Amino acid sequence: MTKIILKDIPDFDKIEVYEDNGGYTALRKALLEMTPDEVTEEVKRSNLRGRGGACFPTGLKWTFMPKGKDKPKYLCCNGDESEPGSFKDREIFEKNPHQFIEGVLLANYAMGIKTAYVYIRGEYYKWINILEEKLQEAYKKGYIGNNILGTGFSTDIYIHRGAGAYICGEESALMNSIEGKRGYPRVKPPFPAQNGLWGNPTTINNIETLANIPEIINNGGEWFSKIGEPKHPGTLLFGVSGHVNKPGVYELETGTPLIKIINEYCGGVTGGKDIKMVIPGGSSMPPLTKEEVMSVKMDNESLKAIGSSIGTAGVIVMNEDTDLVKILIKIAHFYYHESCGQCTPCREGTGWLLRMLKRIDEGKGRIEDLDLLINVSENIEGNTVCALGDAAAWPVKWTIRKFRSEFEKKIPASPVTPEVKNKVHSLRHSEEPVKN
Ligand code: SF4
Repeated sequence: MTKIILKDIPDFDKIEVYEDNGGYTALRKALLEMTPDEVTEEVKRSNLRGRGGACFPTGLKWTFMPKGKDKPKYLCCNGDESEPGSFKDREIFEKNPHQFIEGVLLANYAMGIKTAYVYIRGEYYKWINILEEKLQEAYKKGYIGNNILGTGFSTDIYIHRGAGAYICGEESALMNSIEGKRGYPRVKPPFPAQNGLWGNPTTINNIETLANIPEIINNGGEWFSKIGEPKHPGTLLFGVSGHVNKPGVYELETGTPLIKIINEYCGGVTGGKDIKMVIPGGSSMPPLTKEEVMSVKMDNESLKAIGSSIGTAGVIVMNEDTDLVKILIKIAHFYYHESCGQCTPCREGTGWLLRMLKRIDEGKGRIEDLDLLINVSENIEGNTVCALGDAAAWPVKWTIRKFRSEFEKKIPASPVTPEVKNKVHSLRHSEEPVKN
């Protein structure tokens, strides 16, 4: 199994060990032998897709940055990592920070950027300290700063601490936060490559995305493109949590079967229980049933084909004893709490979802609440400034659609009147008239 980031080399976080094992050779190669455009071309050839959830092709994203030096350009490295179930980027800061730093330097060289910000959630104090120390090591060795390796290329990397808002992981809110403003997502267009930090061209990349770049430059884009699934190549850092015997971060090729990750790498479900539901890519992704878990491969195309998505590859496993209403309350509460309040469907809708779910959990739900929950979700979805609206809506909508009986069990039997029937009918948008 190919390892690109979490290599099994003792003390690999130390700069000397990293250098002894080929560290910073990609930077040397790029600065001495390649033009910036050749670096971007190699990344395009690799077909590397962003690891922050959107899966956008990284090399193509870099080409959106304007050329020329008339305006400052920026790179924002998104290490906010606040989605429940996602914890892979912190593993990179701990285990292989210099490969990430080298990736930032290569990105800056390719796009002609002189300043990169690494945005990390403020509570992640431990990882901020680790990265600060590693950046200083790299500065001392001359890999960052002025006239890097005597080539005339100069660039700086700064850490920016967030104040603990999930929404600041959204790229435009992240830029507002760096600018010292409230973390409100911006309406797009304009997109960051045209109008980013302080109105200047900006690219935002995920930490894991950038950590892949040095090996792409060392080994070639074609090498990378042949690892795992061709349309979504490379490896992914799967952060597996929930009811498994060995939770943790596992670097595996894209296309690895989900059931293999659970049973072989994570030692199976705790207590030998059956699987009830699995969320494949962080709490915002539509969940999977046991039947889907048994056959799906972990790459974006395979998950899309069954109505979900790879997201951040944060896999949350739930066994047969899990109360899905309570799980959904926790997820809905998170998005309700983290909504920035800027747009009405998200600000109001997330609260409605939470209150209705609580009502069902308390045994006060009505059968029509299930369709009402789906209806509210669908009125949030696609109608908001940023993707938090979708993130709040999808788990509710799809958990009810796939596990409806779990919710019905908590709803007391009540006489279904013709009015209720008609209400349910209209919410379902059925074309068939309801017969009393
Ligand atoms: Fe804010 Fe929610 Fe609107 Fe995003 S969708 S801008 S979080 S209110």
